[in-house]
Amino acid sequence: MTYDAASVRALLGEILGALASAPESDETRSLRERITAFAARPEAELTPQLALEASGVALGNMRHFPKEARGLVGSKANAIKQAGEAALAAERELAEPAALAAERTGKGFDATLPAPKLEAGSLHPITRVTRELEDLFTSMGWSVLDGPEVETEFHNFDALNISGDHPARDTMDTFWVKTAPRAQRLVMRTHTSPVQVRAMKRLKPPFRAIVPGKVFRNEAVDASHEHTFHQMEGLVIDRDISVGHLIGAMKTLLRGIFGREIEIRLRPGYFPFVEPGFELDARCPFCKEGCSVCKRSTWIELLPCGMVHPNVLKAGGIDPEQWTGFAFGLGLSRLVMLRFGIDDVRHLLGGDVRFLEQF
Ligand SMILES: [Zn+2]
Repeated sequence: MTYDAASVRALLGEILGALASAPESDETRSLRERITAFAARPEAELTPQLALEASGVALGNMRHFPKEARGLVGSKANAIKQAGEAALAAERELAEPAALAAERTGKGFDATLPAPKLEAGSLHPITRVTRELEDLFTSMGWSVLDGPEVETEFHNFDALNISGDHPARDTMDTFWVKTAPRAQRLVMRTHTSPVQVRAMKRLKPPFRAIVPGKVFRNEAVDASHEHTFHQMEGLVIDRDISVGHLIGAMKTLLRGIFGREIEIRLRPGYFPFVEPGFELDARCPFCKEGCSVCKRSTWIELLPCGMVHPNVLKAGGIDPEQWTGFAFGLGLSRLVMLRFGIDDVRHLLGGDVRFLEQF
């Protein structure tokens, strides 16, 4: 449809006609003058832009038209508006290729110059390792679970066998969330372990799951401590699960990460939510005789793990007489640092592009 100034003028005439039966007032007089000014323009000057303005005046002053005329005025004004909008859109469509053609034939244009480089982003090293581990574990039939970062005191501590006066609460410098005096207390979760209890409540055993995610500690930040870091919890609940299954899963995990067999050892470790509990060390993948990563010991402390404590199974609504399980808490941030040789944990969440673009 081509723009037709004569039709727009005719429509404006009909709107003016409707105004004739309106009671006389300062408002109607001023409105009549404004619309007349548009309609009185020579057709050559009544551009789509002006048509849009005129329709805006009519639509914006509908209350000054007599009630019985408002339907008609609305339809006429909208017809003017549509004609103006369509004409402007058509103009733009024509103008763009013309502008481009002008630029291409203009002075100084060189079609052989290379295009500006596109800045392609890359995955954050934590995202990369997390996805690799998710692929590895889902390929073995494990689920990937998520849980809230603001957690109830119950899930973060009590359900994990860490009661109010338990010394383990002191070792986790906790960010408490301000809550109403009688409301249940909330924390920024200090570990991914609360999802163990949530998983047990939601899933029917047997099941296997990992939970990658952020955790928070009220730490003084330095090269090896951050207030926010990443962990990956693992949990298996089944019949007759033993420490042997735990060792097998850990060896598979390390093979997936480092691409080869890594020797491990278990040392007794105390964590309230497992019994027995272990510290799992991996043979340093970077040296044979000791290096700075393994502090000259050839072993790297990798993760705490153990058999799920019966009290934790009970808190999750699972009968410890029938089911057993193991759990591990992998320090994901630490693992990423080992894998890529990153020497300062602050780089991970520092948001410095110079660091990130190396991956
Ligand atoms: Zn080493």
